[in-house]
Amino acid sequence: MRILITGGAGFIGSHLSERHLALGDEVFIIDNLSTSVITNVQHMEGNSRFHCKIDDVLNVEVMRRLVEECDLIYHLAAAVGVEYILQNPLQTLMTNIRGTEIVLELANEKKKKVVLASTSEIYGKKNGHVPFREDSDRILGPTTVVRWSYSTTKAVDELLALAYWREKRLPTVIVRPFNVIGPRQTGQYGMVVPRFVKQAMLGDPITVYDDGEQRRCWTYIDDALDGLMALATSDRAAGEIVNLGSNFESSIKDLAFKIKELTRSESEVAFIPYDETRTRNGLYEDLVYRAPELEKIRTLVGYDPKVNLDEALVRIIDDYKR
Ligand code: UDP
Repeated sequence: MRILITGGAGFIGSHLSERHLALGDEVFIIDNLSTSVITNVQHMEGNSRFHCKIDDVLNVEVMRRLVEECDLIYHLAAAVGVEYILQNPLQTLMTNIRGTEIVLELANEKKKKVVLASTSEIYGKKNGHVPFREDSDRILGPTTVVRWSYSTTKAVDELLALAYWREKRLPTVIVRPFNVIGPRQTGQYGMVVPRFVKQAMLGDPITVYDDGEQRRCWTYIDDALDGLMALATSDRAAGEIVNLGSNFESSIKDLAFKIKELTRSESEVAFIPYDETRTRNGLYEDLVYRAPELEKIRTLVGYDPKVNLDEALVRIIDDYKR
């Protein structure tokens, strides 16, 4: 197949590129390197089936040519990471909404299937119905809190993809990843696992926000890719919204101590009050608990995540050391 991956130099996109190259596919990526680095994909550049364009999904002419080249599009390009989104609120709106509009418009001209990376942020706050099912209500705070603006951009993306499916029969699959972790993920834009690993390895304090009782379910990249690729090739997934996650759950406090132990670090686990963190000026609000209901993806494509948190951390730490 000929695959287009927007955001292909990012954490998930670069691993996805490798997997499709290994299958013998031709891979085209486009990335503006806003939150990714070229070193994520440099090792693939010698492969004649790998084509890397450093450009923006907002560049319609470049995107038109790429869409024409391919059979299947993974639209992963987006402004991601709390720190990035807080610092670039306008860019976040433009990239996430206009970028997806462009991808869907062009894909529709040629009727190319689109797998849209949405987010588990869609659900918003714990609303008494965790684990979140695909049809759970969304509970968001005010528009002044930047976290909810990110969630809203992705909701608009989902609505667009659904409308293209319903009105134009463009095959779209909407995927909502839950805390995907793995090698190449950077902590620079907020993601907690690479932040803690780096802090532990450098002997710096491991910065647990508040009491660390926030809970997340961790999805190792290999499992996430199994799910994503199975959905991309399943005819039954067209027009569907699907959670992609795991039930390997922990609190942030336990995560910190686990990483400290696995790295044999001397770092102190430091509990930082919210008013000294990114939540300090009211632009950000933390989320107490997030967990996915996975029945739908299991039924659709037989998805069965295998890499638990301990194993995932061992692999991430090994990679970090290398
Ligand atoms: N977190 C933390 N210390 C950090 C970064 C994050 O305690 O240095 C916490 C954060 O408050 C949240 C959780 O880790 O409760 C996960 O944060 P992340 O930004 O990775 O993703 P989220 O699941 O909130 O989108």
